[in-house]
Amino acid sequence: MKLVLLGAPGAGKGTQAKKLIEKFGIPQISTGDLLRAAVAEGTELGKEAKSYMDKGELVPDSVVLGMMEERLSQDDCKNGYILDGFPRNTAQAEELDKMLDSLGMPLDAALSVEVPTEDLMKRLTGRRTCRECGQMYNIYFQPPAEEGKCDKCGGELFQRDDDKEETITKRLEVYQEQTAPLIDYYREKGILKTVTGTGDIDEIFQNVLQTLDAG
Ligand code: AMP
Repeated sequence: MKLVLLGAPGAGKGTQAKKLIEKFGIPQISTGDLLRAAVAEGTELGKEAKSYMDKGELVPDSVVLGMMEERLSQDDCKNGYILDGFPRNTAQAEELDKMLDSLGMPLDAALSVEVPTEDLMKRLTGRRTCRECGQMYNIYFQPPAEEGKCDKCGGELFQRDDDKEETITKRLEVYQEQTAPLIDYYREKGILKTVTGTGDIDEIFQNVLQTLDAG
C-alpha cells in the first residue's frame, strides 16, 4: 500500500496512520514527526524549521523535500508507505510524483480524512501526546485514565507547542489555502478516496479499510 493521507490538522490522520502501520507493517512517514525530531535534536535543519512551525507556517519546500527524498529511499519503504502531513502544497505534490516515479513506487491512493472545521479546534487544543511512546490522547474526547500520564507506558503527556490556540488558527488557514487544493490535484489523477473522520476511531478505521479495499 502506497498511500498519502490528506486532511486538516486535527482530522486524525496520525491516529489512522498508526492503525494502518499496525495492520500492514509498513512505515508511516510524517514530516511533522521528522521535523519535531530534528527540533528536539537541535540540528541546523531543526533550528530553521522551528521558527516556521512555531508560527503555524509551512517549513520551506527545499527543507522538507530533501528530508523526504532521503527517507523514501530507505529500504523499509519498498513494500509500501503511508505519508502523513506530506505533501502540503501543490509544489510538494508535483515533486513527490517525480521522486516516486524515479524510485519506481508511485502512489496507489490519496485518502482524504474529512472533519467539519468546527470540530477541529477542540480536537487540536485538547490533543496530548506521550513523550515516551507517542500515544495520542484528547482531554475532551479520549482522556487518559490518570491526568497527564500515558495509559500504555506511564510516560508524561505533553501538548505540542503548535497546538496552542493562536498557532492553531494559523495552521487551519494555511491548510485551507495551501493544502486543501491537493484534494482536487489527486481527484484529477483519479486516485482520490474520501472518508468521514468523525465518530469512533475504530469505526473510522473500518471505513478507511473499506474505502481502500483493504479490509
Ligand atoms: P503536523 O504535525 O503535520 O501538523 O506538522 C506540524 C508543523 O510542521 C506544520 O505546521 C509545519 O510547520 C511543519 N510541516 C509538517 N509537514 C510539513 C510539510 N510537508 N511542508 C512544510 N511544513 C511542514
